[in-house]
This record gives sequence, structure tokens and C-alpha cells, in this order.
Amino acid sequence: MHISIKTRYFMSHFLAVVLVSGSIGTYFYLSALDSLIENLRGRLANTAALAAESMDVASFEAVRGPGDTDLPGYVTGLATLRRLRSTNPDIAYVYVMRRTGDAVTFVLDSDESEAQALPGRPYPDPPAALLAGFSGPSVDDKLYEDEWGVFMSGYAPLRGGQGVYLLGIDMRDAEVGRKLWRLRLSGMVSLSLSLGLAFVFATVLARRINRPLRLFMDACAAVAEGKAGARVDVRTGDELERLGVAINDMSMRLEDHELRRTQAEARLIRSRDELEVRVRERTIELSRLNALLVHEIEERKRAEEKLFQAAMTDTLTELPNRRAMEQQLTAQAARVARGGRPFAVLLCDIDRFKSVNDAFGHEAGDEFLRAAAQVMASSVRAGDMVCRWGGEEFLFLLADTDLEGGLVAANKLRQAMEALRVPVDGFLVARSISVGVSVCADCRDKEEVLRLADEALYEAKNSGRNQVAFRVLAAAAAASA
Ligand code: GH3
Ligand code: MG
Ligand code: MG
Repeated sequence: MHISIKTRYFMSHFLAVVLVSGSIGTYFYLSALDSLIENLRGRLANTAALAAESMDVASFEAVRGPGDTDLPGYVTGLATLRRLRSTNPDIAYVYVMRRTGDAVTFVLDSDESEAQALPGRPYPDPPAALLAGFSGPSVDDKLYEDEWGVFMSGYAPLRGGQGVYLLGIDMRDAEVGRKLWRLRLSGMVSLSLSLGLAFVFATVLARRINRPLRLFMDACAAVAEGKAGARVDVRTGDELERLGVAINDMSMRLEDHELRRTQAEARLIRSRDELEVRVRERTIELSRLNALLVHEIEERKRAEEKLFQAAMTDTLTELPNRRAMEQQLTAQAARVARGGRPFAVLLCDIDRFKSVNDAFGHEAGDEFLRAAAQVMASSVRAGDMVCRWGGEEFLFLLADTDLEGGLVAANKLRQAMEALRVPVDGFLVARSISVGVSVCADCRDKEEVLRLADEALYEAKNSGRNQVAFRVLAAAAAASA
């Protein structure tokens, strides 16, 4: 069960005050009740004793039964009793009783109603106080009820009665009750007052602790929500005030910390933004440089490619040059050495070319070389290669070709060249070619096959030109035979 501190504080103070004031109130109430009863009993005892003093015992001796009411002792005595009763409003009845052995009987009774006890009427079951009244003054310790109602009674022996006569006085219960009621009322009023006082006292004290607690709670909740800087104003001069000071201190430090954190965050964001700008600028710069570099690399590649092409191309005829052919020959010779298919080379030399230069000039000679190169370039198959080997010499490399294939190709070329006519200065210049054929089937290297082709060319020249001759290694020749 959840009970708030305010309620607990209130309840503890309330109960404490109620306990203290209740105990004190009860003590005074019981004391007052006691003194009231004692007061009543004292008054009853005194009144009974005083009244008993004024009665003449001798005049009652003859009064014994209901028929004795005319006796002068009875009449005088009854008148005395009734006078006594009428002068004291607290008294209900006054009577005189006689004790005979254990029996108690009425002698006189002040009652003026029909219920009046006539002389000789027995009083059944007399209380102990009544019996004690025959020998000395006595008073009931509580209210007693008999056929005449509820009373508190006081008794005193008649002077000279020798323990046989007593005078009794009954105080009305209403009277006693009224006094008791007043006492209770005052008791209730004081109890209510003490309850009210306890309530006010407990409320004030509970508020005194609850207000600072509420302020602390509000301040802590504000700090928890991130609202640093919340303050509490508690001036109770005790531990609560010290707690309030501690909370204020904590809140102030948090506020300071929060401020510094915010400033640091702002600085961080600023430097991050600056860094981003710098990175962006550097990235743009780098991209620009990178694009430049890529462009430059491409340019260089193109230049290198051009350079490479130039290095591998003959400028006059635009055919591959000798260097390009040598590379290709090296690769092919290596392939054959690894067991690849044989290749053939055709070394071609234009017959009597010097005379073209001599007759038409060097320019015309160049022109003829370019036309011859075109014929040769158009006669090679895919995968084959032709180059300007030097001067007016051209070299063919026919891949995957044996001697027979090489000879066929050489004769076709020879015929094509024979048919070529190059117009120069109104003349049609024609020149035949001599071709030396060789095949690398199991040649050691390219030099060997080139040497053989050169020897074959020499033979073709010596044999009258415009013809094809071949040379192969002895082993290859034997194999082909
Ligand atoms: P043959 O081969 O039939 O023995 O006679 P040839 O006249 O062709 O032989 P030679 O080797 O004596 O002459 C080759 C000539 O080719 C010499 C040179 O003037 C000419 N020549 C070489 N290169 C070029 C060139 O690039 N342009 C021109 N116009 N002529 C060249
Ligand atoms: Mg030559
Ligand atoms: Mg020649």
C-alpha cells in the first residue's frame, strides 16, 4: 500500500498529539468523575448526618405498622422529613428505617405519592451501604435500582438509635445523571478540542515537510527533463534547507556543465562544417587533378601508341618495318621450337629497281615502292604479315604454312607484281620481283630461316630474276621429299 510521506507525517503527529492530549484528557476526566462522585457522596453523607441529628428516636418507637400513621411521632417525623426534602431540590426521598435482626423495615417515608412506604413495610435485599448506615454514615458506591427508581443514597444512624434506626436520603438518578452528563459534555468538548488541535498541529507540521519535499521533487524532475538551473527556496534552518542548498548547487553545476557542453557541441559542429567544406574543396581539386592526370595518361598512351606504331611502321610504305617483323619472327620461331606448326618466309626483292630511280628520279622510285607495298599488303591473308625489310626488299611471314604453300603464295605474288603498272611522267613503270622462300619447320632460330631465304633469293637473282627459289634445312628437305 502506498502512503505518502505527507500522510505518514500527518498521521504520526496526529496520533502523537491525540495520544498525549487523550491521555491527559482521560486522566482529568476520570479525576473529575471521581471527584464528582466523591463530592456527591460527601454531600449525601453530610446531609444524611445533619438530618439524622435532627430526628427524635423516641417518637418513632411506637410507629410499627401501617395503622400507626396517626401517632404524633409519625406525623411530626414525616413533616420534618418532607420539609427537609422540599428545601433541597437534589433530594428525591428521605426516609427512616428500622433494623430488626436481619430485616429492615420502613418507619417514615417522605414520598407524597401513592407509592409511599407505610410504617412496617419491609425493604427487601438491602444493599451493604444501607446496612452499614445503621452503625455509621455511609453512601452507595454506585447507583442502585429498587421499586421507586434508580438512586444514589446516603445513610446515617439516628442519634440515640443504638444501631437500630437510620435516616436515608435518595438523590435522584436524573440529578446524578445531569451532573455526569455535564462532566461528559465537558470531556467531549475537551476531546474534540484536542482532536482539532492535533489536526491543526499535524497539518501544519506535515505541510512544513511536504512543501520542501514538493519543491525538491519539482526541481529534480526539472533537472531530469534536462531543464538545468532549477532552484528551490527552502528556509527551514534544518537538514531540509541543507538538502535544498545541495540541490541548488547540483542544479547550478549541471547548468554550467550543460552550457559548456552546448558550446563544445557548437564548436564541434563548426569545425566539422569547416572540415566538410575543406574536404569538399580538396575533393573538387583532387577530382580536377585526377581528370587532368587521366587525360594526360590517355594522351601519353596515345602518344606512346603512336610512337610504338611509328617505331614499328615504315614511313614510306606504311607497312610494318623490319623491327616489327623481327619481333614477329622471334615469336613464331619460339612457337615452332615448342612444337608449333611450321611457318614460311618469302624474301622479295624488286628486280633492277635502281634503274627506276635512275630513269625517273628518286621520287618516282618512292612512288613505285608505295604501289608495290599496296599490292603486297593486299595479297596477305589474315594472320600473315608483310613488312618492308629494307630498300626495295619486302619480307612475308606466312603462319602455319609449309614449303608447298609458301611456293604457291610466292608465285602468286610474283605474278601480281609482274602485272603492276605504276604511271610515272606519262610512262607505265613495271618491275618484276625475285622471291626466296624458306620454311621454319624445325629451325633453331629466325636467323637460320632468314639466311636460307636470303640464299634462295640470291639463287633466284642469279637464275635470271622474276622467279621463285627456295632453301630449306637438309632434314626438312629430306622430310618433304
Ligand atoms: P637487282 O636487285 O635486280 O640486282 O638490281 P637492283 O638495281 O634492284 O639492285 P641494287 O641493290 O644494286 O639497287 C637497289 C637500289 O634501290 C639502290 C637504291 O637507289 C634503290 N633504293 C633503295 N631504297 C630506295 C628508296 O627508298 N627509294 C628509292 N627511290 N630508291 C631506293
Ligand atoms: Mg636489293
Ligand atoms: Mg633489287
